[in-house]
Amino acid sequence: MNDALLDLNMFEDSYEKCLKCNACVASCPVTGATLDFGGPKHMGPELKRLIDNQQVIDDKRIEYCTLCGNCDLSCPEDVHISTLTTYAKAIHTEKHGSSFRDFVLSNAELVGKMASAFAPVTNTAMKMKPMRQVMETVMRIPKERKFPKYKFKNFNRSFANKVHGSKRKVAYFVGCYAMYNAPEVAESFVKVMNFNGIEVVKPRQKCCGVPMLANGRLKQARKNAAFNIDSLLEYTRKGYDVVTTCTSCGLALKKEYLSIDGSDKAKELAAHVYDADEYLRMLKDNGELNTHLAPMKQKVGYHAPCHMRAQGMGTPAMDILELIPGFNIYDLGAGCCGQCGTFGFKKEKYGISMKLGRTMAESVKNLDADYTVTECGMCKNQLDQLTDKEVRHPMQILAESYERAKQLQTV
Ligand code: SF4
Ligand code: SF4
Repeated sequence: MNDALLDLNMFEDSYEKCLKCNACVASCPVTGATLDFGGPKHMGPELKRLIDNQQVIDDKRIEYCTLCGNCDLSCPEDVHISTLTTYAKAIHTEKHGSSFRDFVLSNAELVGKMASAFAPVTNTAMKMKPMRQVMETVMRIPKERKFPKYKFKNFNRSFANKVHGSKRKVAYFVGCYAMYNAPEVAESFVKVMNFNGIEVVKPRQKCCGVPMLANGRLKQARKNAAFNIDSLLEYTRKGYDVVTTCTSCGLALKKEYLSIDGSDKAKELAAHVYDADEYLRMLKDNGELNTHLAPMKQKVGYHAPCHMRAQGMGTPAMDILELIPGFNIYDLGAGCCGQCGTFGFKKEKYGISMKLGRTMAESVKNLDADYTVTECGMCKNQLDQLTDKEVRHPMQILAESYERAKQLQTV
């Protein structure tokens, strides 16, 4: 029996509780969009049972699970469905191996480092039709799919904390997207923390592992988890809070590491991890938030990422942005955007991705706001693909409001 099969036994009690009520099936975005997927009940608890009884070895349909976590939220028996599907994916990949494309897509950090080092060339090449045709033919990445741009001046180069020796201190888990594609998000986060008198440090870190888990590369994700746990605990043990601006990274640090690492250290770390908006909301509840925010008379549509909802913390981005005077934010209420991390970059999944994104695109169109806001870089990618509105991260809006307030004070 391989490592992954052994680990499935960790969740024996969880899957035995399944009532077959189908609540998870009703909540699964992929089940509603294609008949090629077996659905969470079958791909989770039932597949686990079949594998245990050696009636099946694995099931190819597991490739369609995006690990969005919507099924977990709906289950009345607290079955760890997406954990079961994570392991079923790992079993499938161990048996059949990864394609070159899935290997590349699961290595967001390596790709980010290389693409960022040659950013002008990378970004131009990704727009060239012959290049995209080759990518479609060789790697099965559809030529219609937009890619996020890479920045030469990534966050490793632009990190600039200006507060030192504060009582509250933050160890920032940046994530690959804010590090290599959107350093402006990471820079805004540091500014927001500094406006609140909070020192920010950037610990050594590797990709959180979510793209690896989504592509069945469990062993690689585990190595990254072990590295990140040790690195971040060095800070939490000195009194730092761990904060991230990426909802997928947040879900990994808070929840996924508990299952793929499972150590006491993973539990210790999870207790200190916050999403950036969640952290600001906590500061507000404690009366510690700097509320000198300049008015921004804007109408904005908010898209809630699945991995934000999977953290079960409400909508902290809306709670915080609503503090800006004149700011009108509306929840698009659109469910899954359909990009689903690496899922939407795959040719055989592209049609499903577009189908899933339709509701969100219609909501954006109907609201006709000034722009859209979301925390997730991949949701932004899908919004960029399907809508013509600018897409911003909550930290960019808050940093702008704080900066304007400061300017007003000095005038
Ligand atoms: S994680 Fe998402 S895609 Fe996978 S079974 Fe659950 S709801 Fe469906
Ligand atoms: S929601 Fe939970 S109990 Fe109901 S079918 Fe799905 S796994 Fe089983």
